[in-house]
Amino acid sequence: MTDIANIFLAPCSREQKTGTYRHFQETILDGVDPSEYTEIPDFDLDKVSVWGVVSGNQSHWEKMEPGDRVLFYTKRKSYTHAATVLSKQENNSLAEKLWTSYDEGRRVEDLDEEWPYIFYLTDVERVDIPSEALHGNIGWKAFYPQSFTRLTENRKGRLVDKYGSLTEALRQHAKNETGKAPEEISKETENLLTEQAPPELTESTTEYTETERRIRSSAFRRAVLDAYDETCAVCGAQRKSPAGNPEVKAAHIYPKSEDGSDDVRNRLALCKFHHWPFDTGWISTNDDLEVIVRTEPSTETYDELASYNGYSLYLPQESNHHPHQIFIREHRRLHGFEKV
Ligand SMILES: [Zn+2]
Repeated sequence: MTDIANIFLAPCSREQKTGTYRHFQETILDGVDPSEYTEIPDFDLDKVSVWGVVSGNQSHWEKMEPGDRVLFYTKRKSYTHAATVLSKQENNSLAEKLWTSYDEGRRVEDLDEEWPYIFYLTDVERVDIPSEALHGNIGWKAFYPQSFTRLTENRKGRLVDKYGSLTEALRQHAKNETGKAPEEISKETENLLTEQAPPELTESTTEYTETERRIRSSAFRRAVLDAYDETCAVCGAQRKSPAGNPEVKAAHIYPKSEDGSDDVRNRLALCKFHHWPFDTGWISTNDDLEVIVRTEPSTETYDELASYNGYSLYLPQESNHHPHQIFIREHRRLHGFEKV
């Protein structure tokens, strides 16, 4: 596997750069619909993440190549998101459309300038990279990145000397999202898969500390993805991002918004394409664990979904991890498949 060629650091701290952080939320986290802007190349994506820098940072941007990694500093002393560069484009008119000017946290000389040095990103993921540790290893004293920066050859060299590669350096710096050792999570994952208590429709009122809650939630996600072998229960897709992360998510059957239980039997692994129709009630499952598709008012424009009607779900090997009837019945009731 080839190593990352470049690492870029992008400051958009929630505290100090509120305007930048707002842009970050809108065009990185939420993403932009390419069909709404003629300037955006055709990536064949529903949403693409976009970022732009001012001319003061142009020299860094010029060295940017597809596959480079960008780390976003949004929290005090922490890079919270990482993303991979798809391509770049200089485009002032797109910048004007995407980002409204603001003056909080901008240097005065930047005030009237747009962010025309644009780049497109994919695989935006949540990370937790403490800036002090990373900056220490590249020989920076400040914990705060001053401006959009590409790590110089010298600074990259320090990371490669210490970790063998930039990929490994980032991996080593990224704390687990819970801040806990992965072993604790795998132990919890195992517990969740061996628990045999009768299912409860809603979550018990057990009070968890923030850390316990986060371990449980990571462990649940892992348990469900393991049980389903990272396969979409509806269509069997097993897609992964270029970085190797599975597409499927551990969807609740009886939803979290109704206080639905955190129980492996109240979850389904679903790909992006089938998560939404399941959550919104276009599809559900019968007691035989076959897909049922809503036929009213008309499914004409939902042919792809309708084609799964009657398909058996892809299920975990162990039947005690299968969706439990108490959850799927409530899912059907909630979405009007079953009369109350
Ligand atoms: Zn699917």
